[in-house]
Amino acid sequence: MRALPLALAFSLAAVAAAAQPADLVLVNGRVYTLDANRPWAEALALAGDRIAAVGSSAEMRKLAGPGTRVIDLAGAFVSPGFNDAHVHVDATGALLVGVNLLDVHSEQPFVERVRGAAARLPKGSWILRGDWGAYEQWGAGSAGQTPGARASAGPFTPDRRMIDAVSPDHPVFVNRFDRATFLANRVALKLAGIAESTPAPPGGEIVKDADGRLTGILKGAAADLVRKVIPPIGYEQRLVQVRAVLREAREGGVTTIQDLSSAEQVMAYQELRRKGELTARINIRPQLYRAEEVAALGFSGGFGDDWLRLVGFKAWVDGIMGNSAALFFEPFHHDPRNRGSLRHVMFPEGQEGAAMTMTAKDHYTRFPPGNLERLIKVAARSGVPPHVHAIGDLGNRILLDVYERVLGEEGLLGTDHRWRVIHAQHVHPDDFARFGRLKLVAEVNPYHISDDMRWMEERIGNERARDAYAFRKLKDGGAVLVFGSDSPGTNAARYFLSPVYGLYAAATRRTLKGEPKEGWFPDQRLTIEEALEAYTKGPAWASFEEGQKGTLAPGKLADVAIFDIDLVEAGRTRPADLLKAKVLYTIVGGKLVYEAGPARRCSGCKMTSPGLGPGLLEASVRDAPTSRCSR
Ligand SMILES: [Zn+2]
Repeated sequence: MRALPLALAFSLAAVAAAAQPADLVLVNGRVYTLDANRPWAEALALAGDRIAAVGSSAEMRKLAGPGTRVIDLAGAFVSPGFNDAHVHVDATGALLVGVNLLDVHSEQPFVERVRGAAARLPKGSWILRGDWGAYEQWGAGSAGQTPGARASAGPFTPDRRMIDAVSPDHPVFVNRFDRATFLANRVALKLAGIAESTPAPPGGEIVKDADGRLTGILKGAAADLVRKVIPPIGYEQRLVQVRAVLREAREGGVTTIQDLSSAEQVMAYQELRRKGELTARINIRPQLYRAEEVAALGFSGGFGDDWLRLVGFKAWVDGIMGNSAALFFEPFHHDPRNRGSLRHVMFPEGQEGAAMTMTAKDHYTRFPPGNLERLIKVAARSGVPPHVHAIGDLGNRILLDVYERVLGEEGLLGTDHRWRVIHAQHVHPDDFARFGRLKLVAEVNPYHISDDMRWMEERIGNERARDAYAFRKLKDGGAVLVFGSDSPGTNAARYFLSPVYGLYAAATRRTLKGEPKEGWFPDQRLTIEEALEAYTKGPAWASFEEGQKGTLAPGKLADVAIFDIDLVEAGRTRPADLLKAKVLYTIVGGKLVYEAGPARRCSGCKMTSPGLGPGLLEASVRDAPTSRCSR
């Protein structure tokens, strides 16, 4: 075939361009693509839900038609939309829409927060949790174990009479951050049938004042009297909660959320999608104990579409650090008879008590398979990757052993299975290299470093802390790192969806106050480029979605985050600035789902989510104690 005359070829190209002009063109940006073919660019052209082209501003302007919106980014930083691999949407929504009392330890703000929640929630719905007083302890000392200086004056203890007047139509049942002391208002006490004459159940206390009147404070088993009358949240309230989480995601540049999804959550996502309100893509992870039902229905890994996709089954080996339930070979320093505990899905074990007899020389596979292994086999056969939580070094050993045996027996060793270890928080030195040998994904939560380092060495000692959140060792061991916020965090701290906290923590290993200056075990820091990859490209790959997203390249979904400062440059030279970075635009599927208003220009207005009092972030920075790191 003869080559077309040059002029004709040009005019054909012009016709093609005119037939499909870009819908949105972004020019004059610092575009960090994470695409090895073109790591940096200046501009993007988006058409439909895809990226049409990446290049210079002049090239991209040519793709604009009369109806194209062109945004001059004036040097703003552009990256692939963030993919938060670990969100508890249900709990985050409950916290955002309900009442957040983490930073409250005095009467006036306590009353104001409850009043605010009552105004947001439909009449009759319960106001729950709250976790008051968390930063009272923080300010005084370590996170919850040692009594702080202010404890001598007595910790803040509310009384129902503070809030009865502001919550006449809502039962309130909130707790202190240690979840051992609860406050019920008049409505909640009435619904629970608790009167002044009600006897306290064994192991519980119903607190009364000097006149014998109920203060609303319930301790221990007495809380069950209220708990048992709390109905599951209604569907409308769930939608309100998911909307609140989506809003926080948009404001943080998060375009995909990997959730630990219940059936109710999945229903809510579908409803919001039908209504056009889903502004982040959701990777769905039901619990592993459902694996047989899901497999029986024929659903396999990847089922769904670009918005809602089944990517894994979630399970747990051990507990968490916060309540010293993560499973270790050696006991906790502050609790010498305790080395942690197993989660329910582990039972029955192949041999009763097997895990608890293991030493650092042992392997769990010397025992017959238990319940977790049986379920992982079901997952393996259905093609849905297991995503299993393991925190302590023994917890991780058990999971690696189980994965190794099942991968071997199912003929999957060496294949591209992308099974995940969630948290991989404390790994025995012998086990890092197994991540590479078994080709595992380590789904880690960098913000835990900034938060937990304050008390970590006190609990597990300096030696074991060396292998805590050891991202460099995991990477060197061959793990693919994937970041998640673990929002809403622990009962002592809120973890935000905004990725800047995780980027900062991974790159500096410092508290929000910047301590210790050299970083906590600084050899485990990641570069900002590695951290950005673990928050974008990594999680897309881990969910088998690397063909769709994770980099800015032609043909990929147009999921984009735009910040006011260059995150790469800040991460390299002034990492504290990462914490001040603000999202200017968030784009999902080619649509602008968030556009910062002029408010972004004022300082101190970082938190705009409902339910979070303004200044919570500032409070957390101000009140976070200095590092207790002994180095
Ligand atoms: Zn979690």
